[in-house]
Amino acid sequence: MTDSLAYSQWNNNEHDSLAQCLFCNKYKILIKPRLEVKSYLRGNIQYIDMEKVKTLIIGSGPAGYTAAIYAGRANLQPVLYSGLQPGGQLTTTTIVENFPGFHEGIDANQLMSEMREQAKLYGADLRDGSIVKADLSSRPFHLEDDRGNQIEAETVIIATGASAKYLGLADEEKYRGQGVSACATCDGFFYRKRTVAVVGGGDTACEEAMYLSGLAKKVYMIVRKPQLRAAEIMRKRVTEKENIEILYNTNTLGLFGEDGVEGAHLVRFKGEENEEKFDINIDGFFLAIGHTPNTDLFKGQVEMDDHGFIITKPKSTATNIEGVYAAGDVADPTYRQGVVAAGTGAMAAIEVDRFLQKQ
Ligand code: NDP
Repeated sequence: MTDSLAYSQWNNNEHDSLAQCLFCNKYKILIKPRLEVKSYLRGNIQYIDMEKVKTLIIGSGPAGYTAAIYAGRANLQPVLYSGLQPGGQLTTTTIVENFPGFHEGIDANQLMSEMREQAKLYGADLRDGSIVKADLSSRPFHLEDDRGNQIEAETVIIATGASAKYLGLADEEKYRGQGVSACATCDGFFYRKRTVAVVGGGDTACEEAMYLSGLAKKVYMIVRKPQLRAAEIMRKRVTEKENIEILYNTNTLGLFGEDGVEGAHLVRFKGEENEEKFDINIDGFFLAIGHTPNTDLFKGQVEMDDHGFIITKPKSTATNIEGVYAAGDVADPTYRQGVVAAGTGAMAAIEVDRFLQKQ
């Protein structure tokens, strides 16, 4: 519901404003919006369209949709903005085989569209588009979408996810879903008894390599430095595992293959005198060079770790700001699984409900 509000003294009062509802004509004191807003003059009165929302959910991965399902059922009248990648990270993969309830696996896009329909069924207002500005300095929170619409939200659930980093090679795009993946837990199963490569030398790369080594015949690790960055225990595990071969000082130049990945063009000691180009034959190419949480919008407002992941209270999705919750990969540098994201989405909606009931 959009309240059209007429603000008097708009230009000359820095503080709260006297506002008149155009529909009911009642006057009320309103907090002046803190973002720069589009307003228009009629006579000597300044007007602004401001939508009041009980629960605003930002993001449409498993966390966002599950939060919307629970919030809808709890009559929290959720409004969900899908963001730039409706359905989230899962839509970049093909079949999901580890989401409970689908013993034969489920197409990732179908899974997300089922969640979307379920959220709609319980009354969630699902919108295309993104939130582009957020002022969380006091409640109600003030946000703006990419069409310039102003929103006053009583509570916010941040479910904006994280994006896997890629090397930026054209071949990564060419073979995406045909041998290129950024999630061993999701796609490793397709490479049983085959040969794969994992790019990266951090904890994630080591974990992915260890996971894949239990399935694949052979795992290469492509590490650009002369050493692994991972913790000692992880380094020990991968170096001792007989079917993992670590290629140090090595970068990837490209991939090759007819209908999918069949190999990678690599270079050792790139740019140095002893530079050496060579190829390896592989069936799968896994990126594990880190994830970037999609949290730019909330920097300086919501508490985050050094990598930009939102910090939530133990066993909770509550952030450092009362009324703001974070669910899914945006607050999870550890598990990054759809089912975990869905679980925290449910937690966030339940916590919002309890919070609003206390108000
Ligand atoms: P990290 O940033 O720790 O490691 C990224 C790795 O990718 C590094 O080896 C880096 O190389 C390499 N890399 C980055 N960009 C490129 C590139 N363009 N080309 C080739 N290689 C590249 O990311 P992680 O995801 O591994 O970990 C993120 C955080 O999460 C860390 O703090 C980690 O400790 C933590 N984590 C903890 C886990 C656990 O405790 N179980 C599991 C997973 C992660 P270089 O070293 O040269 O920069």
